[in-house]
Amino acid sequence: MKSPYLTPDHEVFRINVRTFLADHVLPHAADWEQEGGLPRELWKLFAERGYLGLLHPRSAGGGARDLFTSVVFLEELGRTGFGGLRAAVSVHAYMATHYLAWVGGRELCRTYLEPAVRGDSVAALAITEPGAGADLAGLATTATRDGDHYVVNGTKTMVSNGMAADFAVVAVRTGAVTDAGRPGMAGLSLLVVDSGLPGIGREPVRTLGWCSAGTATVSYDGVRVPADHLIGRLNSGFYYLMRGLQLERLVAATLALGGIEQSLDDLRGFVRGRRVAGDVLAEKQAPVHRIADLGTELAAARQLVHHTAWLYDQGELPTTECSMAKLYTTELACRLADVSLQLQGAHGYAEGSRAARAYRDARAATIAAGPSEVMRDLIGRAVLRAPVRADAEPQR
Ligand SMILES: Cc1cc2nc3c(=O)[nH]c(=O)nc-3n(C[C@H](O)[C@H](O)[C@H](O)COP(=O)(O)OP(=O)(O)OC[C@H]3O[C@@H](n4cnc5c(N)ncnc54)[C@H](O)[C@@H]3O)c2cc1C
Repeated sequence: MKSPYLTPDHEVFRINVRTFLADHVLPHAADWEQEGGLPRELWKLFAERGYLGLLHPRSAGGGARDLFTSVVFLEELGRTGFGGLRAAVSVHAYMATHYLAWVGGRELCRTYLEPAVRGDSVAALAITEPGAGADLAGLATTATRDGDHYVVNGTKTMVSNGMAADFAVVAVRTGAVTDAGRPGMAGLSLLVVDSGLPGIGREPVRTLGWCSAGTATVSYDGVRVPADHLIGRLNSGFYYLMRGLQLERLVAATLALGGIEQSLDDLRGFVRGRRVAGDVLAEKQAPVHRIADLGTELAAARQLVHHTAWLYDQGELPTTECSMAKLYTTELACRLADVSLQLQGAHGYAEGSRAARAYRDARAATIAAGPSEVMRDLIGRAVLRAPVRADAEPQR
């Protein structure tokens, strides 16, 4: 489909990414799902093609490419249909390392960002805790200053790449609790923490899907982290996370978009080939109408994601659009996964089918990076806040 946002260069790049994924990823990705993690060599293969630093500055070895190059990369990554791989690569390249590139400072970039861009190290982002996820104000992991170190205590969970990561960007509490006695949003900071430090424990979390992301619960028991591993300013973590989450949501939406395109292709292929009661399924009205609706929603989703990326690339922070894109695409992926599995019958339900994997993987994306309920809260508030036109129906 022609797009005002994508140039011929983007389309050449798309073919290159697709070829790379077909050659190096798709033949093995099902095994990595079984094994619960990605091989180290894979990170190098991604890095050699510049895929781990598309947005990062050249000074850190990145490509400093425009955002639509990343949109193309993420769509193709989404099309693989392997949620764990998608999560692992995107957390590394667009979430954890984003904070280093943005406010990490020269020395942290040299020590952590550059090896990550080269594929020599794996990054994780550790925000969620057993007692607090969507509500960042409830985060309780502490980092207490002790001379030229912070001493970190607490537990993070659902950390994608958590089992494999060489370092994690960790949200910690460095400031006081609020007057009401709650931890509050002020007083959060981001620290980069080496995974090998004494006092760190890692346990795998078994998940319904996204298995190759190597999700972990990570515990910190008196972990001494050099004070200069603070990312950006002290007690500014909430501000950084609120901005970083917008990119995270846009990335999640773009990955979902790629997954939706692939799932719809799979479904179209199936109904064209499957004969039931003497007809191909694609000639029966019930599946055709469902596919018509899904195709329409896909077209709308693509415009919403690309428009949001365009706004973001203009230097705006389109918070409402990021929430809308994330909400709409991740929920559409769930609806499509459900319809696709139904229309593919037992073939779709069989373990190992792409429909079955999409059904499992799609569910994670409406929770991770902010659940749909939170997206609706944010969008609802923004829609209600928007000015009412003068020619609107007067209030009676
Ligand atoms: C597969 C996967 C990978 C993840 N990877 C990472 C990672 O790499 N790093 C990381 O830090 N975290 C990660 N997460 C955690 C994710 O960000 C959290 O799951 C998410 O923020 C929600 O937090 P929670 O699960 O603790 O749910 P809670 O915050 O306890 O919420 C539970 C449920 O309550 C509802 N809810 C929550 N808030 C509201 C509200 N304001 N209004 C109405 N309803 C609400 C929602 O339905 C929500 O699902 C991952 C999660 C998943 C599923």
